[in-house]
Formats: sequence, structure tokens, C-alpha cells
Amino acid sequence: MTSISAPVPPTPVLPASVAPDAGTAADLAPRKVDLIGLSRAELVTEMARMQLPRFRADQLWHWIYHKGVTDFSAMTTLAKPVRANLSGYYTIGRLAVSSRQESQDGTIKWLFRLADGHEIETVFIPEDDRGTLCISSQVGCTLNCRFCHTGTQRLVRNLTAGEIVGQLMAVFDDLADWPSGRDNRYVTSIVMMGMGEPLYNYDNVRTALKIIMDEAGIALSRRRITLSTTGIIPQMQACGEELAVNLAVSLHAVTDALRDELVPINRKYPIAEVLAACRAYPRATNARRITFEYVMLKGVNDSQADAEALVKLIAGIPAKVNLIPFNPWPGSLYETSDAATIEAFARVVMRAGYASPVRKPRGRDILAACGQLKSASERQRRGAANRRPADAAE
Ligand code: SF4
Repeated sequence: MTSISAPVPPTPVLPASVAPDAGTAADLAPRKVDLIGLSRAELVTEMARMQLPRFRADQLWHWIYHKGVTDFSAMTTLAKPVRANLSGYYTIGRLAVSSRQESQDGTIKWLFRLADGHEIETVFIPEDDRGTLCISSQVGCTLNCRFCHTGTQRLVRNLTAGEIVGQLMAVFDDLADWPSGRDNRYVTSIVMMGMGEPLYNYDNVRTALKIIMDEAGIALSRRRITLSTTGIIPQMQACGEELAVNLAVSLHAVTDALRDELVPINRKYPIAEVLAACRAYPRATNARRITFEYVMLKGVNDSQADAEALVKLIAGIPAKVNLIPFNPWPGSLYETSDAATIEAFARVVMRAGYASPVRKPRGRDILAACGQLKSASERQRRGAANRRPADAAE
């Protein structure tokens, strides 16, 4: 007679950066493992620990990432005892919404609260025939780009793969954008351009993007995914080879002297080396151009001479140049270039054969500068904490 051993319960897994609290007995009870953010291979391993064959992992993947189901009991292709068993050991988590703001122009900004209480921002930008979701990769950022509000916040930690893919899933919930793969969806592309430098959290970004691209789940094509970097050269090649997503590079200046000031990581990875890495980026072709991001700062980097120097620098790279009118925030050092200056700059770039779209300012009525909503939320909480003793004394 064959004996059937009991499934091996999973070891509770916490993101490496989330320390378990010491404390009450309830705190010490085994926590269920959140399946969101496990790679396909890790999910197969987890199911094997439950003595479930590979096809069960495939079914789960479909329910989680294609249908957006969060409750095991709704997974009708699994036998009822299997569903009950899974729900005893696992969860299918969602990020908690701290706040949600919707602009008059349709832009939506979410502040998500993570399990350890930190907050991150995610922004949806709808356009006529498509919608782009801007996703964060870190809590805060170490790079201190001078024009960026997030750069004023200290880095707290990298996001886990589950927290990165979780932003997209929470937005799908909000916009009723499940199941994946159907026509007329709200979110048609994503940009890793929110808080943080994604190539400083490359391993988790890679796992998350592989989940997002997996054809049996969310199935977003790599052509619809753009990763934006300040030019972290050691990871750029790996990103091209392993993910082959579109690349955007935050250039913002045409001399090292100015870029050292605007994007201080330039002291480590200067312009010429970043551009050499762009030339070597796998699969950069005219059909899949590298985007250079260029924030337009009045009187700083917006002259005709700057435009001419820019096209010389990027000569030979299949590229387009996104011109971004600066979005000021309280305390920012810069002003936006005026419209005529931006147009003149764009003409020089265009004449040299590069598309040079000017990004429309979006969501200005909802603290849309990256990082602003998080700071506002922190100020509010600090204000409430400071008021508490006085309240208690009343
Ligand atoms: S622009 Fe990006 S890399 Fe630079 S400080 Fe802001 S979030 Fe960090």
C-alpha cells in the first residue's frame, strides 16, 4: 500500500527587507505566504511542497494573473479540498490604497501602503487610444536628481517583486481591467519611471517584469514596457539581454558639468559612457528606439546650442527625444521653459531626424510631480502625530 504523506507546510516568507515584529503571540503565529511576486518556477516549487503537480501551478497562475482572482474558493478548476488546503497556507495579496486622486484630465494617482507602512506612488495616464501606468521600483530614491521631488526623499528600501507587480494588479482591480488579454483595456503599457532607479533594484524588477510579460497571465508584451534609467551602466546590458524591454535614459543635459549637477550619478556614469552603453543596448533598432528623456529647465539646458549639441551626442543611436516641460513643486529650484523655447528646441532635434514629442503636462491639479503625494501624506501624518499630545491634554 502506498502511503500518502501530508503536504509540507510552506515556511512563511517575508520580503528580505521587512523585519518580523517581535511581540504578541498573534504576531508570532505563522504567516501565510503571499503568492504574488513568486516567479513561475517558485510557484511550481511551492505547489510541489503541497504535493501538487505542475499543472496545478499553471492553473493557479491563470487564476491569479489572467483572471485577477484573489480568493482560492473562486478557483473552480481546482478540487474543493485543494482550494481549502491552499487557503490554509497561502494568500493572494493586494496593496492597500492609502489615497487615490483623479485629475480633471483623467490622470489617476494612487498612494499605496506597503505591509511595513511605507508608501509608494503609481500613476495612470490615459490617452485617446491607450493608457500608460507609471510604476515605482523603490521607496524613495538615492540619486537626488535636482529637479525631482522623489530625489528629496531618502531611500528607504527596494520594493519586492510582489510590490512591483502588485501596483499593476491593484490598478487592474480599481479600473476593472481583468481579465488580461482582452480588447479595450485601460492599461495598455507600463513605464518603470515612478519612484526609484529600477536598475538599482534590478533582480526584483526583472522578476516582476517576467511575471508581467508571462503569456499565460498578464501577458503584456515587452514592446509595451519601458524601463527608465539614469544610466546605471553595469545593469543596462543585462536588462537588454534578459528582458529586452524598451529603454528610456534620463539625459537632461549635454555636458558632464551640467549633468553632474542635475543628475549627480553622472559623476559615476558620465554621458559618453552612458551613450556607449546605449549604442550597445541589445535590440535597439529603428523599430525599437531608445528614448532620451530631457526635462526642459528655463535658462538651464534649453538653448538652441544645447539642442544642437544633443543631436551630435546621440548621432547614430536609433532614438527619440522626449521633451518634458518641468513640473514645478514647492521648493524646486527650477522653472519650466516657455512654450516657444521648447518648440524651437524640438525643431532642431526633429530636423536632425529624431522624433521629439513634447510631453503634455498631466494631472497638475493632483500633486502629480513624482513623489509629491507621498510627501504630502507624510506631512499629514507628522502633523497628526505632533497634534496628538495637545489633543490628549484637552
Ligand atoms: S528622477 Fe528618478 S532617479 Fe532621479 S531622483 Fe527622481 S526617482 Fe530618483
